[in-house]
Amino acid sequence: MVGSMTNSQGGPSLPQERRLVTAIPGPKSTELLARKQAAVPPGIGTTLPVFVTQAGGGVLVDADGNSLIDFGAGIAVTNVGNAAPRVVERVSRQVADFTHTCFMVTPYESYVAVCEQLNALTPGDHEKRTFLVNSGAEAVENAVKVARHATGRQAVVVFDHGYHGRTLLTMTLTAKNMPYKHGFGPFAPEVYRVPLAYPFRWPSGPENCAAEAAAQAIDAINKQIGAENVAAVVIEPIAGEGGFIEPAKGFMPRIAEFCRENGIVFIADEVQTGFARTGDLFACEDEGIVPDIICTAKGIAGGLPLAAVTGRAEILDKVHVGGLGGTYGGNPLACEAALAVLETIESDGLVERARHIGGIMLPRLRAMAERNEAIGDVRGRGAMIAIELVRPGTTEPDPAAAAAVAKRCHAEGLLVLTAGTYGNVLRFLPPLVIPDHLLEEGLTILEKALATV
Ligand SMILES: *Cc1c(COP(=O)(O)O)cnc(C)c1O
Repeated sequence: MVGSMTNSQGGPSLPQERRLVTAIPGPKSTELLARKQAAVPPGIGTTLPVFVTQAGGGVLVDADGNSLIDFGAGIAVTNVGNAAPRVVERVSRQVADFTHTCFMVTPYESYVAVCEQLNALTPGDHEKRTFLVNSGAEAVENAVKVARHATGRQAVVVFDHGYHGRTLLTMTLTAKNMPYKHGFGPFAPEVYRVPLAYPFRWPSGPENCAAEAAAQAIDAINKQIGAENVAAVVIEPIAGEGGFIEPAKGFMPRIAEFCRENGIVFIADEVQTGFARTGDLFACEDEGIVPDIICTAKGIAGGLPLAAVTGRAEILDKVHVGGLGGTYGGNPLACEAALAVLETIESDGLVERARHIGGIMLPRLRAMAERNEAIGDVRGRGAMIAIELVRPGTTEPDPAAAAAVAKRCHAEGLLVLTAGTYGNVLRFLPPLVIPDHLLEEGLTILEKALATV
């Protein structure tokens, strides 16, 4: 019965309700999981082992007919919702017209239109260029390539708790060993890591965090690398996998200023924070940061694989003809999806909607933290919100509690994700189109799950 449903019943027209008709996972998902285990290597993990058949609005429907509340959005990808109407319409039209030519061989308009829009919408009114690739890692990798070419320098500076992808260069840029780097060396050369302003864990307290962390980072660059050897600084405006760490206010502007003074390309990795997620179109806007290059992906195309590198024309224009590209980068289906996403963010007021979500989540989570000493910190902006779990009365990370709470939420039909260098962060990334009643119901499930740890 469920298997015979067509996609036309998916998307936002799916009933917006939590509905559990079997255990999680149910028998059909369990059968599929056994097939997965026989066919797919275990290195490809599974957060919540239900096999999805339809999704839309704020729910995921599985093979057994369960309807789960989605606080993950495919890791901050389906900001406009799954199977969002404009995405479906534009992609459907495109797939019937043509599916691929390779933009570098024979171009098409939608690619150019996406680049024009990103040039106009990203922070700063300087002249910009954009090119398109397939994934966040590929965008970051290309940004570094371009920065090295433009500066003639090699060193790349990244931060504690940073995550930038899984390719050789981007896993080198990533901070956390397990699971991202362990056993995968040797790593790429000329990558240097400096402190991040992590207010909750700053030894001398959050009020000293921005100035001290910036001074330490800059001192390390000057003393250990030499600013004149640094091609680029790569930073996430809110560290995503690292645990939704908002650098203390003032830290990023100081780092950006140091880059400007020293001819270093400031690269903002907005792969997770972009496209209205944080209550701004891009998270850099919060402190008025204007990056030299901005990398985007995840939320850009409603789930179709697309990523972009947008930057100062004088930097991107330096690369010789043929020095950039890739077979699939800016695939026409993905470009149509991106145009639909940008239109939807604008028409449906999703920047404001993200702020509205934060306005519901933050007060409720702060009230829970008042009553529950296991919640050490509540943080984030817009619809990018997290809580950090600790042993009560300390700041000692409690990853076992985070895993237990997540498991309990999953059993109750609420998808939540964990994160953090210490694995003790629960992160919430609902689609921006989730209805309020599901948001509230999800928070109630979370509250009950937290009460059990
Ligand atoms: C997810 C992510 C990446 C990597 O993107 P992929 O599309 O998985 O390659 C890079 N940077 C940040 C901040 C991310 O969250």
